[in-house]
Amino acid sequence: MKNKTIAIHKGTLKDKKTGGVNTPIYTSSAYDYISRDETFYPRYFNTPNQNAVAKKIAALEHAEEGLVFSSGMGAMSTSILAFAGAGDHVVMLDALYGGTHHFATVWFSHFGIDCTFTKTSADDVINGVTSKTKVIVIESPTNPLLAVVDIEKIAQFAREKKITTIIDNTFASPVNQTPLDLGIDIVVHSGTKYLGGHSDLCCGMVACSNEKLDRILNLARVLGPSLDPRICYLLERSMKTLILRVNAQTKNAMEVARFLEFHPDIAAVYYPGLESFGGYEIAKRQMKGFGAMLSFEIKGKDPHRFIERLKIISPAVSLGGVESTICPPSLTSHAKMSPEERQRIGVSDSLLRLSIGLEDADDLKQDIDNALKKVPKY
Ligand SMILES: *Cc1c(COP(=O)(O)O)cnc(C)c1O
Repeated sequence: MKNKTIAIHKGTLKDKKTGGVNTPIYTSSAYDYISRDETFYPRYFNTPNQNAVAKKIAALEHAEEGLVFSSGMGAMSTSILAFAGAGDHVVMLDALYGGTHHFATVWFSHFGIDCTFTKTSADDVINGVTSKTKVIVIESPTNPLLAVVDIEKIAQFAREKKITTIIDNTFASPVNQTPLDLGIDIVVHSGTKYLGGHSDLCCGMVACSNEKLDRILNLARVLGPSLDPRICYLLERSMKTLILRVNAQTKNAMEVARFLEFHPDIAAVYYPGLESFGGYEIAKRQMKGFGAMLSFEIKGKDPHRFIERLKIISPAVSLGGVESTICPPSLTSHAKMSPEERQRIGVSDSLLRLSIGLEDADDLKQDIDNALKKVPKY
């Protein structure tokens, strides 16, 4: 089956009683223990609606198995803790999602886990590894500067050293990137973003081998970040249009990036699909499409006044929805960092992160152009 067909049909549990074509919502939290080998229970992550979406993500990510969580952080923290414990060392990118970064800096010591943060080049990541390293956590493209990480090089190195690799594949989505094909062990998603796609649900997903999943599942069952069947249903509904949505959003993003690249009020554009962008060559090799996230810096004008003057693109922190949203990382995802720390990682106060939706690209370009025109130069 090809991706579009998988997105629609994989995992669907047809309603045999009525012939309905959708997976019914199984609301029970108490199930018969006599008639089957495995008793269903929502916190066991094994109820019919959880299984339906887990099968879909597994197929889309070319994995043996999948798992759905109540949030992206639930998926990420459980996956890391399943493979790193007291005395172990973890290597992570500096540029990881804020919540993952916070989990490591504030909570790893509590679990006796040591951690090294590295820059995004494969050599930097590999140089961060010690004899105690058990897990490497990466993300590509990164937030908010869209740095592209050489996934295959890191995965290959880690395989030889028997280190478990985890990638946060939220930004690319399985439509644009399938890291298991590049040798990564575990793919994690914030399903709150593209998989949900309509800015109306929160969930996380994991896709990996049978063996890795058993371990993650065992820990998940006691930590308990399981997803409600009603939200599983919403997610299943959304994932059916994932391919169409993300392909169209990716196309829109390319158009907007090209428009920004030559706009006189724009100082820099960060988008893996631009030939002028540093990560372009690696992105072309490892991604099917360049994604629908981009960032840019405005030249000589107040970025916050610019945002206030946008009519279609909404100021909002999350991403991946059908509606375009924009936010300044200095005031949102990276607000907790000191200005010096932000400077060091290249997140300037004029940097804006744009999540491109499904609107008409011409309207998006015009919205940006109009808003820029209305803001006077400093
Ligand atoms: C939002 C996000 C997360 C966290 O997901 P939640 O669903 O909010 O827990 C993790 N990684 C990335 C890249 C994200 O954008």
